[in-house]
Amino acid sequence: MAMPKMTISVPKEGAAGLTGSWRTFRPVVNRDICNHCGICAMFCPDAVIDPDNEEIDLVYCKGCGICANECPKKCIVMVREER
Ligand code: SF4
Ligand code: SF4
Repeated sequence: MAMPKMTISVPKEGAAGLTGSWRTFRPVVNRDICNHCGICAMFCPDAVIDPDNEEIDLVYCKGCGICANECPKKCIVMVREER
């Protein structure tokens, strides 16, 4: 039986807060390499990665890069925000 995908951190929306315009880098998933293991979603401290489809809610993503660091396939790259 497959293990359910659960996040380690479950912040409330108000506690996490809107990111605004200060983020320097944002994560981009290379879907050609992703194997849908769910580890990125599990480690995201803001719980903004949907574990079912790896969609990232950039309204709340802080650009910390933990997801990119933890991805075993190294298929998340942090790209500089354009202003
Ligand atoms: S960069 Fe940080 S906040 Fe954004 S999705 Fe990755 S782990 Fe979550
Ligand atoms: S950790 Fe990497 S391989 Fe696993 S679901 Fe996330 S992006 Fe895909």
